[in-house]
Amino acid sequence: MTGQVLSVASECAPLVKTGGLADVVGALPAALAGQGWRMRVLIPAYAGLAAQLDKAQTLADLGTLYGGPARILGGQAAGLDILLLDAPHLFDRAGGPYSGPGGDWPDNPERFAALCRAAQAVTDGALSDGWVPQVLHAHDWQAGLAPAYLRYAGSPVKSVITIHNIAFQGVTPADRLGALGLPPEAFHPGAVEYFGQISTLKAGLVTADAVTTVSPRYAEELMRPDFGMGLEGVIAARAGDLHGILNGVDTAIWSPEADPHITPYGARNMRRKARNRAALLQEFGMGEVPGPLAIVVSRLTWQKGIDLIEAALPDFIEAGGGLAVLGSGEPGLEGAMQRAAATYPGRVSVRIGYDEPLSHRMFAGGDAVLVPSRFEPCGLTQMYGLRYGTVPVVAATGGLADTVITANPMALAAGTATGLVFHPTDALALRQALRRLCQLHADPGAWKSLQRAGMRQPVGWEVSSAAYAALYEGLSG
Ligand code: ADP
Repeated sequence: MTGQVLSVASECAPLVKTGGLADVVGALPAALAGQGWRMRVLIPAYAGLAAQLDKAQTLADLGTLYGGPARILGGQAAGLDILLLDAPHLFDRAGGPYSGPGGDWPDNPERFAALCRAAQAVTDGALSDGWVPQVLHAHDWQAGLAPAYLRYAGSPVKSVITIHNIAFQGVTPADRLGALGLPPEAFHPGAVEYFGQISTLKAGLVTADAVTTVSPRYAEELMRPDFGMGLEGVIAARAGDLHGILNGVDTAIWSPEADPHITPYGARNMRRKARNRAALLQEFGMGEVPGPLAIVVSRLTWQKGIDLIEAALPDFIEAGGGLAVLGSGEPGLEGAMQRAAATYPGRVSVRIGYDEPLSHRMFAGGDAVLVPSRFEPCGLTQMYGLRYGTVPVVAATGGLADTVITANPMALAAGTATGLVFHPTDALALRQALRRLCQLHADPGAWKSLQRAGMRQPVGWEVSSAAYAALYEGLSG
């Protein structure tokens, strides 16, 4: 028998994406279909999204929500079963999902509360096609109120919340309690109150039937003050219901053998990877790079340790390395990368922006991918690196530590090493890891072994989708 689950999120690739959250939300439905679960994805109808739905129809009229009409549209897009919360006064705006030209949308609390109300309506049977889920799966703070609404209404539908990144907590002034549809008794430290304010993420964490996060290591880290960011106690209190389930990679999109953006290659014809390298150097206006060509595809933020790259760079360049960067983010870090490119013309090159096809060409053409994050719930780019024979150099944190086996002499000898894992996350450790990377790159046998072991590693959704399915079954059974 097929189970039914409603996924509630603010992003879903390929329709709307600002980060890894979207990739996961977009990949889960296909992965779960193979496990006997039909997943419909509810997201806001941001500007232009409704037009992307195939066979769109109105499935529910929600009346007035936060000062304007709201309805739920259903349809297909990119092979996904999509439900859109169509509320033009909240979502039909020029700008990103969370912010416009002037910064964060001031009504973000209401916008995402509306999404959660729509989710609750679906679980209450509001859809005219008669579909009702057994489980609601909420993602991050934007969907955090959905489990709370179910809990306070006494709904029989079970709920799961996944933490993709605890740095974003949906903190809102306490006087919005009523506007967000929460009962007065919810405002206490055991529920949604958070240092005198409201946190919608916390609301989800205390009311959902189960809590998951996107790697086993991050699940452990979240219970510690240096990673929990104020919520460590809340998470520790739910330790018995906490599951670390590693994200997978969408292998239909990320496979070097069948990637339309590159000269395809596989573990058996790595000479064709070299063509991608040459093309990438040319595209970035770089000269010959005698050592490893490292890539960075990332938000340029403190979390991602981009400042450490700046500090470790002189040594790496001197040892023969090169660096190609694609990303955008904090102006200071964008500037740091641009300064590095000016200092090392031909060896360091930077593209500020967001460019999905270019990111594919970079994974195909790079020798190594750098992910020196200070914290990393799961991380996807190190897994793309594994698949593309682009050796990951990662900090020993979260999902990075769970997916890369460091090239110490024993792991190398056993043929199990897939990359370099460094600790602590500081410039010195990164510099040492890059020095080691140069040594390994200069040793063809070792390098080939690293690439092969990485390309063999399963990074798809097979294992993790089974874990989610087991979780849903346990809750709804
Ligand atoms: P996070 O969600 O914290 O940003 P992840 O590694 O989980 O980090 O996911 C980031 C996703 O966004 C990956 O799919 C990565 O390839 C993509 N990405 C990040 N920056 C860019 C960029 N500038 N251009 C293209 N893709 C990018």
